[in-house]
Amino acid sequence: MTLPEKFAARVLSELGPEEGAALCAALDTEPPVSVRLNPAKCAGAAEPGAVQDGTGAVPGGYGSPQGNSGTDVPAPLPVLQNADGRVPWCADGYYLAVRPQFTFDSDFHAGAYYVQEAASQFVGHLLQGVEVAGRRILDLCAAPGGKTTLYASLAGPDGLVVANEIDRRRAQVLADNVRKWGTGNVAVTTCEARQLGGFEAWFDVVAVDAPCSGEGMFRKDRDARGEWSEGNVKLCAATQDELLREAWRALKPGGVLIYSTCTFNRDEDEGALERMLGWAEDEAAQAGEVAVDASWGIVCGRVGAFRTFRFYPHRARGEGFFAAVVRKAFDAGGRCRTPKARRTVFASVDRAAAAELRRWVNSPERMCFATVADTRYGYYVAQAEAVKALAEALPVIYSGVAMGQLFKGRLRPDPALAFFCGLNRDAVPAAELDEEQTLRFLRRQEIGAGPFAEGINLVCARGRALGFAKRIGNRVNNMYPNSLRIIKQ
Ligand code: SAM
Repeated sequence: MTLPEKFAARVLSELGPEEGAALCAALDTEPPVSVRLNPAKCAGAAEPGAVQDGTGAVPGGYGSPQGNSGTDVPAPLPVLQNADGRVPWCADGYYLAVRPQFTFDSDFHAGAYYVQEAASQFVGHLLQGVEVAGRRILDLCAAPGGKTTLYASLAGPDGLVVANEIDRRRAQVLADNVRKWGTGNVAVTTCEARQLGGFEAWFDVVAVDAPCSGEGMFRKDRDARGEWSEGNVKLCAATQDELLREAWRALKPGGVLIYSTCTFNRDEDEGALERMLGWAEDEAAQAGEVAVDASWGIVCGRVGAFRTFRFYPHRARGEGFFAAVVRKAFDAGGRCRTPKARRTVFASVDRAAAAELRRWVNSPERMCFATVADTRYGYYVAQAEAVKALAEALPVIYSGVAMGQLFKGRLRPDPALAFFCGLNRDAVPAAELDEEQTLRFLRRQEIGAGPFAEGINLVCARGRALGFAKRIGNRVNNMYPNSLRIIKQ
């Protein structure tokens, strides 16, 4: 499908004939493929050269990467044998020379990396110099979770990311990606922005990755061309205005707002910021400097106190993207307020149950446990009260780490626990599967009992955990969740 005529005419007039034509031509080329590694599951992910030899420190404080006592360092990532350089603005980002079949890569299913368009990895760079570890971050438009997982790695075990998605179906995909990433510090909500705005001055960082007309996706997603219309631009702009209003309400004085879209459209980019400054200018202050190397090809600008960053595919190696950052002035006023609790969600866990649950985590002293319906959940203590406040007021569909159910005092682990970066691997025998067995496991097919010990096993491929299986004699009960099962042949 060709580019929408009105779009092409507009960029030619806005950027001039030469640059406009270069942009249109770039939109007809092959998009780059990129991934972002999970630092808690890939040893030394952020250190050049360290990934392939599997050594190096792991940021984030989860202990050694998905292992205990340093004995279990997972293997290098085969997906990086195909690496074609690093994403310059993201320490964990890599370009790939060709697009692999991610569906058949066990590391993809283990949450060792996220397939994320390179330009959008820039939101992490905007937070360099901002203290985010241990802080509360709101990701207001979060599905499928690319940026949520990035924020979760930055926030670390003492921080909290509230990842919201208004569309319930998309919110389930978001929750699946959060489980797989395994940081245990995310609460997934599915509500309207105004409900989160009700948590006034509560968040240290608020990110609005707004629904938009998607012009920046015209290369990667050809359907976006057919869905584009001037009418849709207007609708998106109205939604963006509302989202920015609620985001600002939720932000603490001194906190940082990140606004981003994947469109080139001025009305939805700089225009949205100008409209916001119409009512918020007195409270907006410049965020810290953001270092941008000229070789990255990013067009930097300003709108009032906002620093802005435009990614054009003919200049920067990524899709079309717009990002902006501003600080809410320290003297902006406003009281930290939370909505009234409407329901009790968390029930306590008795001592015997807590002792069994503590056995399954690496840092039991940093965690507490609660019961929701009949499932036991684990939370990092630092943010447990915050999650409780959210769950009592809003629809939270997933939070912390689902540990599982207790039967006669023993834990039947939830699949999410296998992905958890703070899992104590000594709690359960590990079965390492070969490639063929791994695919059978991920397809939820029967597998031979050979690699398994009697009872519950952690199922691993290349040292990375994928789920659980229970061996009873010669039979193996595959506990991989149906919703994650590979269907593709
Ligand atoms: N941040 C995501 C990521 O990095 O994977 C991509 C988000 S996408 C650009 C925008 C999302 O906003 C969509 O999932 C859409 O369903 C959601 N959305 C649309 N209207 C919304 C609203 N009024 N409030 C919250 N989310 C909304």
